[in-house]
Amino acid sequence: MKNLCNMTFEELRDFVTGRGEPAYRAEQVWQWVWAKGVRSFEEMTNLAKDFRSDLAQVTEIRWPEVSEVLVSADTTVKFLLRLTDGALVEAVLIPGRTHTTLCLSTQVGCAMGCTFCSTGDMGFARNMTMAEILGQVLVARQHMKDTGRDAKEIKNLVFMGMGEPLLNLDELMRSLAVLNSESGLGFSQRRITVSTVGILKGLEVLGDSELAMLAVSLHAPTQELREQLMPTAAKAVPLDQLMAALDSYPLRPRQRITYEYIMLKGVNDRPEHAKGLVKLLGQRKAKVNLIAYNAGPDDLYQAPERMDILTFEKILLVKGLVATIRTSKGQDINAACGQLKADFIRRKLANRDPKDTNQ
Ligand code: SF4
Repeated sequence: MKNLCNMTFEELRDFVTGRGEPAYRAEQVWQWVWAKGVRSFEEMTNLAKDFRSDLAQVTEIRWPEVSEVLVSADTTVKFLLRLTDGALVEAVLIPGRTHTTLCLSTQVGCAMGCTFCSTGDMGFARNMTMAEILGQVLVARQHMKDTGRDAKEIKNLVFMGMGEPLLNLDELMRSLAVLNSESGLGFSQRRITVSTVGILKGLEVLGDSELAMLAVSLHAPTQELREQLMPTAAKAVPLDQLMAALDSYPLRPRQRITYEYIMLKGVNDRPEHAKGLVKLLGQRKAKVNLIAYNAGPDDLYQAPERMDILTFEKILLVKGLVATIRTSKGQDINAACGQLKADFIRRKLANRDPKDTNQ
């Protein structure tokens, strides 16, 4: 059965007209699936009954199944989602002062093996489909409604969950088109951020599309240190090549590229690293997000001292770099965005249903 959540608007239109219906029916179905988030054909009340039953026979509206919901003391919500083949992924709703951000996964596991990330430890299982990627948005919106809040409070989307989005380029681009569609999910390009370690082909496609903002996981000011922290990514695209690619990334007049910098105690949080960052980014249209590592008891790295984060930030600011310290939310449920803790998934897999064959 075809999942309607797996169709772009053009695919849906071809499908609908292929079944002998006028093209405007596609627009109606589209709005039911994405803008209204319905899950049954009976609810599509402006469609003729015959068409609804035809749709029900050959298509489905399938969202990821919510396996577990964890709510942190600071109201961060982590969803553990089970995909059709039993694979598990996470999505995280992060409350802000004025709006809520949703952090999305794009792959089951990740091939990049960054040494500070437990998703990397899991290795790569498979790419997520568009329906699975956008299903996270539908589930999160439904959760808002079910808890008496307005689904529209979710204003920002960040692709910083499990996986490297630009290594799942086709499904990512299809998803971005649906997210940007006004009659679909209706997020503007400025409200969507794709975070990547820096995949050259993907950067080119994403930049040309103008469908999202860009964040780059930098984490180190030098090739040597970057190779230590994120060996696969840094060896595949050395820092000088990455910066050259980013220098030609299309930006609007006041737009900047965000550089994510996860601070690890004694590893990359020293003043010399801050000075290295100034040297690397000082002349570029850059904004640095400093993120304190959220350490668990058995982790290789430790969380930085508050004082060291402030000193680091000050060095950047004094030299004119735009920098912010991103507060880590949801620490008690291991939901810090960009460093999702796969131990939750591991625990789940340890007790998994034997019929789940994936992973
Ligand atoms: S930090 Fe991102 S790219 Fe690196 S291993 Fe984790 S999920 Fe993959």
